[in-house]
Amino acid sequence: MRVLITGANRGIGQGLLAHYAAQPETVAFGTVRSTPADDALTQLDVTRPEGFTDLAARFHDVALDLLVCNAGVYPDKGMTLDTKISPDIWSQAFSVNVTGVWMTIEALLPALQRAKTPRIAIISSIMGSSERAPGGSYVYRASKAAVTNLGRNLAVDLAPKGISVGMYHPGWVRTDMGGSSADISRDASVAGLTARFAALGPETSGVFESYDGTPIPF
Ligand code: NDP
Repeated sequence: MRVLITGANRGIGQGLLAHYAAQPETVAFGTVRSTPADDALTQLDVTRPEGFTDLAARFHDVALDLLVCNAGVYPDKGMTLDTKISPDIWSQAFSVNVTGVWMTIEALLPALQRAKTPRIAIISSIMGSSERAPGGSYVYRASKAAVTNLGRNLAVDLAPKGISVGMYHPGWVRTDMGGSSADISRDASVAGLTARFAALGPETSGVFESYDGTPIPF
């Protein structure tokens, strides 16, 4: 199996890369923004379109079984209705969390189509659930709602090509983004997420669920 994870230099992405790299008969690739430290890593800033040409070229003869769109930002963390939220904050969130996911998937569709049972896992967030809307974090919530919607529509259009798409909430995880008082460790999130990805297929395509399998309302 061949797996590619975006945002693999720290946090959940790094944990996912380490998990897959340790599995038998699995080749794990990761993308990082900074200069890659080894051959398993590819340089990619998901806000820079030219990087996707290089990514597609690197995977031109690879059959990619699993793509995990993990790279994400939360630029309005701690901001409230009283904060002046600049348009740049909105652009940054959508550029990484939505357009970045779209560009990644678009660049890797040919590689995914070479695999037998290809899957795309989008790391969204329960904060993007429109049904559960407690207020606040407007920018991050809107970007994650958008990427969940993108994944749901892609699941429909990619079904005839045999590509399954799932959207996942990784839990509230102790990473730079989640903070040190978050609920769960990175290892617990990775164990849950990888089990969910393994359960992703044509029958489950379009799911939005938590790392522990709990369905999340759209
Ligand atoms: P971290 O902040 O720890 O890591 C974010 C990762 O995304 C880093 O590897 C970072 O790279 C990468 N990244 C950010 N911007 C870009 C970019 N422009 N191009 C490429 N890579 C980029 O976050 P987490 O590991 O906690 O989060 C991973 C995913 O899980 C995100 O999508 C997040 O929204 C989601 N999530 C996290 C939760 C949590 O509690 N932690 C809860 C719900 C969802 P760099 O080091 O270069 O900045």
